[in-house]
Amino acid sequence: MTTILDGKKVAAAVGEKVKTALELSEKHGIKPKIAFVRIGDLSDSIAYENSAKRLFGKFGIEAEQHHFPADVSLRQFLNRFREINQDYSVNGILLLQPVPDHIDMKRVIEIMNPVKDIDGITPMNMGKVITGEKDRLEPCTPAGVIEMLDYYDIPLEGKKVTIVGASNVVGKPLSILMMNRGATVTVCNVHTPDLVAETKNSDVIVSAAGVVNLIREEHVKEGAVIVDVGINVNDDGKIVGDVDFEGVKDKCSFISPVPGGAGSVTSSLLVYQLMLATDFQKEPVLFLES
Ligand code: NAD
Repeated sequence: MTTILDGKKVAAAVGEKVKTALELSEKHGIKPKIAFVRIGDLSDSIAYENSAKRLFGKFGIEAEQHHFPADVSLRQFLNRFREINQDYSVNGILLLQPVPDHIDMKRVIEIMNPVKDIDGITPMNMGKVITGEKDRLEPCTPAGVIEMLDYYDIPLEGKKVTIVGASNVVGKPLSILMMNRGATVTVCNVHTPDLVAETKNSDVIVSAAGVVNLIREEHVKEGAVIVDVGINVNDDGKIVGDVDFEGVKDKCSFISPVPGGAGSVTSSLLVYQLMLATDFQKEPVLFLES
């Protein structure tokens, strides 16, 4: 029988960890605060910011919003971003992406304080993902995939994993997180000549390519675990993942749907990582030490 990996349940479990951390934080008189930073008015970014703001609000966490016009100069933006970054009262920063082409992300990331980087985009946090150091902030989407597998007690040690998609935000960091758990990992990209050959012997397939119906029945071995990270709009205007869910679901042991799967976990982890970030900044409150 196939188990559907329910992202909302996993997100609720992360929410409980956030509540515990908030209670402990409050005892020490600490109130975390997040800053949302957005350049331009892309509707996807606005929607993501609004839903994240609602989620932080549900936990009673203070948020401030910094909006810049799409044509803000790089210099003006960096000057203001530096101030937000240095503001002692701000514990975490979420920079909405994509940013306009003239905003050099490399320079923005160079400025961002790694301990406020709640979406794990700075080289320092990426490096710590590789070395496995604990005082790190992970990219939330890959971290959400691991959280989901852990919640359902799906082991990675000794498993063959294929990740489809090799971006800096999902595929690459996820491959490292999985290697750190003892998995043997293959990472595919758009140039992979024979995707079926890579996926069909895999115990776990994670798809993060952004291509509708990329993973079909012939890609999947009997009993495989599938996590669908893709978020796409199909020809009928519906939100779908990368996986032909109906075509493969009876062949899998576990599968995550879209919507209601991996994406639901990402935002709850953003809140949890704000708690971690606050802890890293407010020594000696070691309430999240592991
Ligand atoms: P991206 O465009 O930066 O990277 C896509 C990757 O997939 C690239 O490495 C590309 O080479 C690979 N790819 C594309 N077509 C392929 C094919 N036919 N075969 C094999 N590999 C292929 O995208 P991204 O930002 O990593 O996002 C990927 C998907 O994940 C998108 O659908 C995006 O919306 C979704 N996403 C979801 C979340 C979440 O919270 N669930 C977060 C980020 C991104």
